[in-house]
Amino acid sequence: MSISKDLLKIKSQISEGVKLVAVSKTKPNESILEAYSTGHRIFGENKVQELVDKFEKLPKDIEWHYIGHLQTNKVKYLVPFVHLIHGVDSMKLLEVINKEAKKTEQEINCLLQIKIAQEDSKFGLSQTEVEAILVSDKFKQFENVKIIGLMGMATYSSDEELIRKEFRVLYTIFNQLKNNYFKENSEFKEISMGMSHDYLIAMEEGATLVRIGSSIFGERIYSNK
Ligand SMILES: *Cc1c(COP(=O)(O)O)cnc(C)c1O
Repeated sequence: MSISKDLLKIKSQISEGVKLVAVSKTKPNESILEAYSTGHRIFGENKVQELVDKFEKLPKDIEWHYIGHLQTNKVKYLVPFVHLIHGVDSMKLLEVINKEAKKTEQEINCLLQIKIAQEDSKFGLSQTEVEAILVSDKFKQFENVKIIGLMGMATYSSDEELIRKEFRVLYTIFNQLKNNYFKENSEFKEISMGMSHDYLIAMEEGATLVRIGSSIFGERIYSNK
């Protein structure tokens, strides 16, 4: 199968209203251009340098999503062009994004990452930590970050019930936060969950964004999780 065929096959399975982020990390620009030639425009990367290189060389109408763990000292490289930062997992990071975005009077779309997996390796905030951020005076002064929803990663497992349970937790937290902090805010509406092996479950459980890499571009040869 080719990239464009695999991409179109996956797109045919994507529910209405759900956006597909084609995760192109570690893959060459030719592969991205093949996906682009089908009309796809939303791509995701998880390394800042790699993303900046690709942004510079590839068509400017690509909507780039940053899906990796982001270090504060690298925020400034993304701010000029990134469409959405999926994995914001600390007050410090929000603060730096706000500060960098303020310099050029931009507003950066962010998702707060919630830890839903049981694995220790996954980054993310607890619901309590998110609420502490949202009620803080500091956060209320941030004018250059826009929180448009949540992101989470389920345990890497073949246990579908475990994955489903974790996605349900994210959906529940999203609704509680929506009701308590974003009721009047129509922009808080995204739930980014689901990857190649679990996106069908994620859509059943309320995902609005799915992040799919290997099912489109093939397995990654070297490890770059
Ligand atoms: C790599 C990655 C994906 C895509 O993973 P696949 O299993 O290749 O679909 C999705 N989300 C994040 C955060 C990733 O790092």
